[in-house]
Amino acid sequence: MNKNEMLIEFGSDARNEGLARVVVASFLTRTNPTLNEVEDVKTAVSEAVTNSIIHGYENEDGKIIIKAYIEDRMLSVEVIDYGCGIPDVGKAMEPMYTSKEDKNRSGMGFSFMEAFMDELVVESCVGKGTTVKMKKKIGTEQEKY
Ligand code: ATP
Ligand code: MG
Repeated sequence: MNKNEMLIEFGSDARNEGLARVVVASFLTRTNPTLNEVEDVKTAVSEAVTNSIIHGYENEDGKIIIKAYIEDRMLSVEVIDYGCGIPDVGKAMEPMYTSKEDKNRSGMGFSFMEAFMDELVVESCVGKGTTVKMKKKIGTEQEKY
């Protein structure tokens, strides 16, 4: 069966953002991705994890889980937190919307995730947490040549 999966759980410490990027990138290497594809996935994962840390948990302690699957060169990544949740997901996903304007956030995190991945679905429940589901087909770049 050509299916692989992994799961990692870590604390909502800003230093773990780098860990998350590297873990997902190493997991991805088995699909022989281009550097661009790796960079895209790292950026998307890092935006989602940062959101869990600063918005979901408001920089307090909490657990973040990343699940990733590879099936037929399709990478699926889920970033899960059990933080405050998002009251209006549609609004939160609008480019340049941020609930933290005072903290110099630009409100572009979800837009980057959307741009760098092929699919983005956000499920959230106020008081329970947020799951960001992303997919990206690996290997489409090589096929162009
Ligand atoms: P930037 O990512 O550019 O620094 P930002 O984080 O505010 O700014 P987005 O990443 O696009 O922008 O997120 C938009 C808004 O969605 C956030 O301001 C926040 O209100 C909400 N949000 C995003 N992720 C979460 C989460 N995991 N838990 C709770 N709220 C979230
Ligand atoms: Mg963000």
